Amino acid sequence: MKATFIFRWDDISPFQDAGKFSRLAELFVQYHIPAVLGVIPDNRDDSIRFNPSGDSDFTGRLKALEKRGWEIAMHGYRHLKHTEDGGLLGLNRASEFAGRPYENQAADIGQGKKLLTDSGFEPITFIAPWHAYDHNTLRALAESGFKAFSDGWSLYPTMTAGLLQAPVILWSAPTRMKMLNRLGGIYTICLHPHLAGDDDLGQLERFFRDHRPEVVTIKNLAGQAEAVSRKTMRKRVLEGVFARLYTRRWDE
Ligand SMILES: [Zn+2]
Repeated sequence: MKATFIFRWDDISPFQDAGKFSRLAELFVQYHIPAVLGVIPDNRDDSIRFNPSGDSDFTGRLKALEKRGWEIAMHGYRHLKHTEDGGLLGLNRASEFAGRPYENQAADIGQGKKLLTDSGFEPITFIAPWHAYDHNTLRALAESGFKAFSDGWSLYPTMTAGLLQAPVILWSAPTRMKMLNRLGGIYTICLHPHLAGDDDLGQLERFFRDHRPEVVTIKNLAGQAEAVSRKTMRKRVLEGVFARLYTRRWDE
């Protein structure tokens, strides 16, 4: 069983670095690779507001990419650090959601979804800023109609609190394809357009040349969530192998 890949882009908003976004988007379009765009509905985070006046054709650009099979996902609400709670993953000491009361989280998630819906999008996938979410976040997502979220460390997606959880364990274009194809698995690669340099683009292009058919979106998977998350004996064995490999790498 060959490995499958998802490319997720974070920090997408009208205030992004439009030049860097377009450069990366052109490469993906050239090779007919769809991406999952993590759009911040109301970006108030100054550290990722590169263009204060905003891109007036932002929605149009996203619509054009959506027509090509790209997925519009929701990346938080305002991308603000409300707590230092790393949530269930504990990857960062910052969160817009983890550690806050359910009502506050649900209000922000509902408000963010409304902004995207008003712009003509129907997000079903959530991407938590700083990879930080807790049980209340997941409950609020399910109750707001989300079907999936992108985070966690495993080889295959699982069903968590009624949502398809698509793990994220890669941060640049995959290179060790022999090993990945032996493991199988569904890998999300997390990219930040404003941080992607020439080397990153070169590595992506080399990957795209040979692996176009293996790239999907989370929306594609959510449509077949039951099959994707079914735990076969083979998957259990592979998850065990992966957990040992990954823990070792993480501890080094
Ligand atoms: Zn972010």
